[in-house]
This record gives sequence, C-alpha cells and structure tokens, in this order.
Amino acid sequence: MHIDEHGLAHPARLIATPHQDWRIARNDLRLVVIHNISLPAGTFGGEDVIRLFQGRLDCHARPDYVTLCTLRVSAHFLIRRDGELIQFASCYARAWHAGVSSWHNWQRCNDFSIGIELEGTDFQPFEAVQYTALRALLHAIRQRWPDIAITGHSDIAPNRKTDPGPCFNWSAIQ
Ligand SMILES: [Zn+2]
Repeated sequence: MHIDEHGLAHPARLIATPHQDWRIARNDLRLVVIHNISLPAGTFGGEDVIRLFQGRLDCHARPDYVTLCTLRVSAHFLIRRDGELIQFASCYARAWHAGVSSWHNWQRCNDFSIGIELEGTDFQPFEAVQYTALRALLHAIRQRWPDIAITGHSDIAPNRKTDPGPCFNWSAIQ
C-alpha cells in the first residue's frame, strides 16, 4: 500500500465526503487518531457509517439516530470488519473526526491529524484482518510522514470519548 502525492491511499475504495475542508498548514501532519464506530451501534456490515460521513444518513430511521441529525462528521479512513479500506478524504484535507481535542499543547486535532475509524465498538475485539489493513495503512502513512505519532480518540478527548476502547490491541500495531 502507498499514499500518493494527492494524499490518496492505494489500494482503497474512495468515497467522497462533503464533510471536509482544507488545512491551514497543508503539510503539517503530526498525528494519526484511531477511532471505532458502528451504526446501528454494535451492528456491522451496513452502509449507515458511510451515509453518516456523506451527510445522507436518514436520522429519523431509528430513535437512536436522532442525536446524529445535526452531526457533520467524517474520517479519512474506515476499515471494515472484513478488512476493506475506504477513504473519504485526502490525507491533505481536513476531515472532521476529532472534535474538541488536544494533543500536547495543540488544540483542534483535526487541523493536524489523520483520522482512521475501525468498524467496531468498545466492547468487542477487532478482527485480525482489520489489524492487517491498519498496519499496512500506518506503514504507508509513515513512509510519507515519518515522524507522525499515533494515538486514540480517547487520549485527545478524554472527557468525551472512549474509542477505540479497551478491546483495541495497541501492541498489534507496534
Ligand atoms: Zn472517535
């Protein structure tokens, strides 16, 4: 796998999101943020995460989706349970995955990070093929940005977020 000069991973399935904009400092990437997500919560394999990131989720389809109505979120990457890699935004673009967050002395981690979502929950182990895909993606990212750090969403927004959760095996990506 590699990341090209446009910030696109190959191979990956590209699905564009309107939930992105341009970074102020284009090449100032310092951080990878790892997340988990599933919609409906705990259900895998559907299209609703993709719909959420594309701003076309029917948030009246389920009572537990109502809180998503006003959310405009995205991530650069989603790794599905079967290991498929989907890219929503160039690594050079700013995706909207971190929210209010801080890392060391820097606020607004979206400005300088790449967001990777694993399809999953805080309560279930991730699949081996997801780690395989994640390792390949991180390797490709490090080839372009050798000094980039890796952290979890819960580390940059500890009062708000718990993902990627206790089931995420950090030693699997060392
Ligand atoms: Zn998250």
